[in-house]
Amino acid sequence: MTAQTLKALTHLGNGSDPASREILDALPVAVYITDSEGRLTYFNAAAAELSGRSPQLGVDQWCVTWKIFLADGTPLPHDKCPMAVALKGGEVAEGIECLAERPDGTRFWFMPYPAVLRDAQGRITSGINVLVDITSRKHAQDQAEQAALLLSAIVDSSDDAIISKDLNGRITSWNQGAERLFGYQAEEIVGRPVTVLIPPDRLDEEPRIIARLKAGERVDHFETLRRKKDGTLLDISLTISPVRDAKGNIVGASKIARDITERRRAEAEILRANRDLEQFAFSASHDLHEPLRSVKIYSELLTRRYSDKLDGQALEFLGYLRAGATRMEVLVSDLLAYIQVSKREEGPETADANAALAIVLASMAASVSESGACIVSEPLPTVPMHAAHLQQLFQNLIGNAIKYRSRERKPEIHVAAISQDAGWTFSIADNGIGIAPEYREKIFGLFKRLHTNEEYSGTGIGLAICQRIVDQYHGRIWVDSEPGRGSTFRFTIPRTRKSSE
Ligand code: ADP
Repeated sequence: MTAQTLKALTHLGNGSDPASREILDALPVAVYITDSEGRLTYFNAAAAELSGRSPQLGVDQWCVTWKIFLADGTPLPHDKCPMAVALKGGEVAEGIECLAERPDGTRFWFMPYPAVLRDAQGRITSGINVLVDITSRKHAQDQAEQAALLLSAIVDSSDDAIISKDLNGRITSWNQGAERLFGYQAEEIVGRPVTVLIPPDRLDEEPRIIARLKAGERVDHFETLRRKKDGTLLDISLTISPVRDAKGNIVGASKIARDITERRRAEAEILRANRDLEQFAFSASHDLHEPLRSVKIYSELLTRRYSDKLDGQALEFLGYLRAGATRMEVLVSDLLAYIQVSKREEGPETADANAALAIVLASMAASVSESGACIVSEPLPTVPMHAAHLQQLFQNLIGNAIKYRSRERKPEIHVAAISQDAGWTFSIADNGIGIAPEYREKIFGLFKRLHTNEEYSGTGIGLAICQRIVDQYHGRIWVDSEPGRGSTFRFTIPRTRKSSE
């Protein structure tokens, strides 16, 4: 309330003419007037509404309100209320926040603006008080305060280190997570440069981070090393956001640091275990070729040289031996192909899919003509992957489209690719036997087959190879199918190659 407004109201309160009273009645702010003894002589409708009561004129003293408390909740007797203090000639502090209770028990916050009116001799003749309702402002303030308390409780209980710094790189806040992670107590580190946490060979990171923050950018999941109080190094992931003041100017940064030492260790262990396993599988399958070849050669020799000495059953058994060894050979070379998918390929990392398809179709010419398959392809794109990988995909998917053909019709196979925002989606559609819905995911697993070897020969490795290749390029592979009518295999290759290492 400005001094001017109060002066105008005092003037109105002073005038006992009906026009002044009419104005006071209509005012949307609570106003009441007392005599020099503090007995109420007038209150307006807004005062009655705010206080929730209609005081008795000439009887009620000092206040229009029923019960008053100070901001800290201490009850304030009526004869000590700001109006009473003013009428008794005392000094009233401006802008005191008071709490009042209505007869119905509800409470409201207000600020009183009492003033005394004097006669020509300077004697107090009456008092006027204006009560400004500040309940909604107080509630909003409480909610702000509560939100700040909640936020600080979250910050305190977080396992992550939550740190803030100014634009000079000085630490301004440090939570308990940061104490646990870095070993410094808040008292010893707040005010120090954040560079105490950075290993000397990574000090150039800080100016780059600050530059990005000043440009209003956020630094997300930046994985780096930081130094603990005891000098040991920590693998951490940092997320840093600019902090702005009320005007929107960037004044600092908040930083969340997550300890990823354990994750890094586990990742390294998995990588090592995978490499060992690949190495083992590679040598095992390689070494298996030799004895298998011997089994095949000697069973063939036996059949050729001793067929006149062996009876029919012995020859039949030798036939099984040869077939088993041949199957084993196929399995071993398929497994080798599966393992080798993750090996680095030589040569450029872009492949013209038209050329890759032509090479595959040429190598399959015999089975294409034998099955009478009709293969149609749309113009295909050039994609960011090794040609050998794309050929393996076509080889397996078109090979299956021919192998799992219907007995009732000639195979018709359609190869196409469409370009989408994120990359390309290739499709290989056939009119074969189809796949029941419950197997559409399983078939991409290693050794997963839906048929016996007598029905359709195979090892159950082809689609697992496709899955592994597509995974390596961060793509996706899936099948849509109508049993008895055909299947469409689709795979995606993203436009930009993400590093998989
Ligand atoms: P394999 O062909 O050696 O059995 P794959 O991994 O290539 O192994 O395929 C796994 C299984 O998925 C196959 O055994 C077959 O049941 C099913 N399948 C694959 N491609 C097709 C297709 N085009 N039509 C019907 N079934 C298919």
